[in-house]
Amino acid sequence: MSAVTIPSGAPELPGPRSRALLARLDRVLNGPLRESGDVPFVLGRKRGHLLEDVDGNTFADHVSAWGAAPYGAQPAAVGAAMAEAWDRYGMEITNYVKSEPALELAERLIELAPEGITRVAPTVTGTEAVEGAVKLAREATGRPMILSFLGQYHGESTYLTAASSTDRPDNTSANAQYVPGFVFAPYPNRFRAPFQRGPGPYDETLYIEFIEDWLLRYQVEPSQIAGVLIEPVAGEAGILAPAQEFWNGLTRLCRTHGWLLICDEVQTCLGRCGPIWAGDLWGLRPDILLLGKSIAAGGQPVAAIMATEAVLAESETHLGGTYAWEPAACAAALAGLDILAAGGVLENVAQLDAVARAELGPLVQRFPQVGDVRVQGAWAAIEFVTDPVTIAPDAAFQAAVHRAAVRRGVLGISEEAKSVYRMQPALTMEPELLRWSCRQVAAAVEETARTLDGDAERP
Ligand code: PMP
Repeated sequence: MSAVTIPSGAPELPGPRSRALLARLDRVLNGPLRESGDVPFVLGRKRGHLLEDVDGNTFADHVSAWGAAPYGAQPAAVGAAMAEAWDRYGMEITNYVKSEPALELAERLIELAPEGITRVAPTVTGTEAVEGAVKLAREATGRPMILSFLGQYHGESTYLTAASSTDRPDNTSANAQYVPGFVFAPYPNRFRAPFQRGPGPYDETLYIEFIEDWLLRYQVEPSQIAGVLIEPVAGEAGILAPAQEFWNGLTRLCRTHGWLLICDEVQTCLGRCGPIWAGDLWGLRPDILLLGKSIAAGGQPVAAIMATEAVLAESETHLGGTYAWEPAACAAALAGLDILAAGGVLENVAQLDAVARAELGPLVQRFPQVGDVRVQGAWAAIEFVTDPVTIAPDAAFQAAVHRAAVRRGVLGISEEAKSVYRMQPALTMEPELLRWSCRQVAAAVEETARTLDGDAERP
């Protein structure tokens, strides 16, 4: 631990300044943002891979702006490129007035893309990218339906809140209209499969059989399906990485029925899962590829739809908007691609993967409350259960582990209602800092196992 600064955490959170600011936020922001429970402090600044709250407490950053700051805070080259582009071009609407940064970004992304991807459509957010992909698939095929997977996450628009079925069923049911145009199959989950009891692993060809034998037989004609919308690794659902057999089956169905493969790599693109594209793990050749988060490089909001010549070249679908690929955002994204191209980032991700496996994997044996540990690149998830036999999800345990970890100086990704805790550091985090963080999380699990039952924290 000599090379990295050890975060302080704090035994009591929020600190006084955070507490006062959170109280003010509570009076003016919308419902979900009033809950200070998930992150019990207000950010003062961030540097490298550490967050510092307004009270001066520090935390290892295992959120990395939900993946949108993949090179730590703040990469100087990204800041310089952004400032230079803003100075030169100011704010500009790239959908109307073109400039070089957008052109160069499109060319650079196409160089990186899987075979067959030759075109780019700019967007600002991942949500818009997914919305656009749905429109494009329908336009390209003349078919109405999209096959999607239960539990995925694609964004907060009204359409996608319903369409993704989402990791938060309360949100889908209460806040979204029930939209037409989608059919769903379960997303492969080797630990918690539908129609199976007890922990897996399960055979994932069953999911393909469900699609063929049930969905295509009773619910929708294959010729009505335009495309398959899928996350190559499901992030919000808890880092689920389907098996090769599943992908073989799915790509066979796409070929047989003329379905476009739409890979939502908003969260997985540009190294998060190990390779540049998570789809590379299984040799996927998407027709439409969606990028977000990492592409921003910690700079400005930017996302993209990439697709084949057949889908995008002659398309008349309108996409993007006022802010899509404004020049400074493109310049920042380009500086990020330079960081990736300079080498070392993916190698670091491989080290982070190894550290997380070594440190977190054994927790399954150590604690009956740890049902499963899943690691994929710079991404780790711990799924908490009430017991190893029923594997009933234990969200209260998860939330308590998270709170204990924050006090120890580790901010991961936690949502009160979920039983999965996630670590999503920058791709550049020092492996020693990750190792230290994993040990804090392990200590937090130990503390929670000791104190939670009978404790006031369990609802
Ligand atoms: N797709 C996936 C797979 C995501 O994880 C997210 C965001 N978490 C989105 C789409 C939506 O992206 P954004 O928040 O940029 O709209």
